[in-house]
Amino acid sequence: MGIEKTFVCKDCGNEFTSKANHADYCQDCRKKRQYERARAYREKKRNLEPTRALGSMDTCPECGKKYMVMSGSQKVCEDCRRKYENKRKSKTNNEYTARTYDTILVAFKKGTKIDIQQKIAEYKIATGEDMSVNEFISRAVEKMLTDFDSVIRSESK
Ligand SMILES: [Zn+2]
Ligand SMILES: [Zn+2]
Repeated sequence: MGIEKTFVCKDCGNEFTSKANHADYCQDCRKKRQYERARAYREKKRNLEPTRALGSMDTCPECGKKYMVMSGSQKVCEDCRRKYENKRKSKTNNEYTARTYDTILVAFKKGTKIDIQQKIAEYKIATGEDMSVNEFISRAVEKMLTDFDSVIRSESK
């Protein structure tokens, strides 16, 4: 490591600077090559794995249960696979929710939730439109915001 020197990338031919004594590839091409090496490694590894006959029995490394091999890429038993999938799904859901929504903790009078659910059910029968309690409250808030807006506008005239 030392001062920055200028090199010419062996791959794309662009000039780039680096503090290394010697550098063959620019940042982008280095990343590209790393990615390709990783992919080649994964493919090689996959090809080296013993192929198990479909329908044969294997032991799940997670729970130790025997399971029937249904596809070559199957690593764990059906139960463990489902567990993983649900965990992954709920994690992405939580992240999505945190990114997309504000969460406000609101206390309602006892029975309000049942009233809302009842109304939603009736509304669904009448219109065919399904709605979650969350959606119902969101819409109520939106409606209030709009109502307030029009009041504020007319009062400040
Ligand atoms: Zn390059
Ligand atoms: Zn298992």
